Amino acid sequence: MMPTLFQKIIAREIPADIVYEDEATLAFRDVQPQAPTHILVIPKKPLTRLSDAGADDAELLGRLLQTVNRVAASEGLADFRVVVNNGAGAGQSVFHLHLHLLGGRPFRWPPG
Ligand code: AMP
Repeated sequence: MMPTLFQKIIAREIPADIVYEDEATLAFRDVQPQAPTHILVIPKKPLTRLSDAGADDAELLGRLLQTVNRVAASEGLADFRVVVNNGAGAGQSVFHLHLHLLGGRPFRWPPG
């Protein structure tokens, strides 16, 4: 399979504004921010989407949320929104699991 855009960011084959990295996760700013802070948190493991995660990915899923918390704190966000678009019908356009961390403005509910 062709590497996705996000796999190329992990491999430093294309540039990104990386704000956090550890052995399992990477966080970088979205190129088309939908809020004053809009950061994508991804696993380095190439999971296509959330629903492809299995029981052996439980620790990784926890680590992704820990990275969200860490980055939100470093961005000074007390309140923030986390979004996962799972599948094209839900708005997913890059098929490498990613969590959108959005903050810095009020959010309405339900989302659009
Ligand atoms: P989704 O629609 O949930 O799959 O989100 C994909 C996100 O990736 C969108 O918010 C895009 O703006 C973002 N994106 C696309 N290309 C890049 C890139 N090269 N660097 C950072 N973010 C990107």
